[in-house]
Formats: sequence, C-alpha cells, structure tokens
Amino acid sequence: MSQFRSGLHATLDQLVPDICVFCHCAFRHRPEIPLCPYCTSSLPENTPCCRFCALPLEDSHDTCGECLLAPPEPEHLTLAPCLYKDEGRFLVHQFKFNQGIREGRVLAHLVCELTADHYDAALPDLLIPVPTSWRRQFQRGFNPAGALAAFIGETLHIPIDHRVARKKHTRPQRQLSRSERLKLPVSTFSVQRPLTGRHVVLIDDVMTTGRTFDVLRRVCYRAGATRVDAWCAARAVI
Ligand SMILES: [Zn+2]
Ligand SMILES: [Zn+2]
Repeated sequence: MSQFRSGLHATLDQLVPDICVFCHCAFRHRPEIPLCPYCTSSLPENTPCCRFCALPLEDSHDTCGECLLAPPEPEHLTLAPCLYKDEGRFLVHQFKFNQGIREGRVLAHLVCELTADHYDAALPDLLIPVPTSWRRQFQRGFNPAGALAAFIGETLHIPIDHRVARKKHTRPQRQLSRSERLKLPVSTFSVQRPLTGRHVVLIDDVMTTGRTFDVLRRVCYRAGATRVDAWCAARAVI
C-alpha cells in the first residue's frame, strides 16, 4: 500500500506543477523546493565567504582577516547560503513575519544543499534552534529558528534539541545598536542538561553580527559539547 502511495505521489509530482514562491510561475521536476530554476539563479548567494564566520568575502579565500588572526578554537563552521538582501531578504521576511512555510522550506533546502559541500559522512548529532523568549514567541505566534530547524532536521534526519533556553528577554538584534549587540551576556541563556561529547549545530534564520552564535557557542562548550557549528539561512551584509 505504501509503495502504491509513494508511486502515486511521484506520478502526481510529475503531473501537478509546483508554483514558484517568487514569480508564481508553474514549473515541474523540483518537488523538494518551490522555487523555479530562474529565481534560484537570481538569489544572492553568500559566496565566497569565510568558513568560520560566513562573512562575505570579495576574493576567493575561505577565511576572513579576523579569523585568520584568531582562528576559532576548537574549530567550527558557520554556514549561511544567502545574503540578507534583495530576494534573500524577501524570502526571510515572508518566512519570519508572514509565517511563509513554503519560503521556510526553500531556505531550509538551501542550508541542506550547502551542508553537502562541508560534511562527509558524519553529520552533527543535534540541531539546537537559537532560543527565543516566551514573550517574543507569544507576540509573534511563531518561532522561525525552531521551524527552520524542524525542516532541516526532517531532511537530514538530525534530531532537534531544546535543552538551551533563553532566560532573559532582550530586544530583537535588529533593534539594537552595534555596541548593544556586542554586549549580549552569556547569562542570557541556560542549558538544562549537559551536552557532553556532542557535535551540535545552532540554527537561526538570520545572522547579523554573529554575537548570538558566539555567546551560544560558549554556553554549549561549557556544557560539554565537542564542536558547535552554526547554520542560518541568510548572512547580513555589515
Ligand atoms: Zn520563479
Ligand atoms: Zn571569519
């Protein structure tokens, strides 16, 4: 019966075209991502970029000046397939502020595609969505980092973990000045159970200065994690 069903789905995918989230054209043969080939090619890709902090780079190096001077110890990766501008910004806004599930699936797919270039057989053990305060989640009725992590986890078969919590409510990063962003204290977060020996990935929708990831990395390493990578949909151009 399940074979019959999957055969039926495959046939329907061939017969019923998908609708592109940008140009609304109907297209076929890409059931995993509702973005037509033309719009895929117009997304602002974050390449080349620094492998440690995903900072966009102008030349073809894979490490920015700051990370060359002070390489992260222990070594970790930051992946961000899109730049947070133009179509990349539009996708994130539709996902984050209009709960655009199809846009969220596109963003998750872009992250998953990028992981294929950076990991061999061994993928990380756990995905940890950057925790949001209950107040923000209540106001928004939606947790974009959690939803993105769920899509990515479903595709790559990596479990989601919620043992890192946000203790304090802070204003959204985009409402803070640069100096305020850099002051985010470690005490903002707590870990409910140890992460001993685990290779974890922090997940967020947009990376601005990277301060939230830096602080959460420290929190996870203190809790025993052996490696803490970070994956987000888009990297702000700062
Ligand atoms: Zn399109
Ligand atoms: Zn860097």
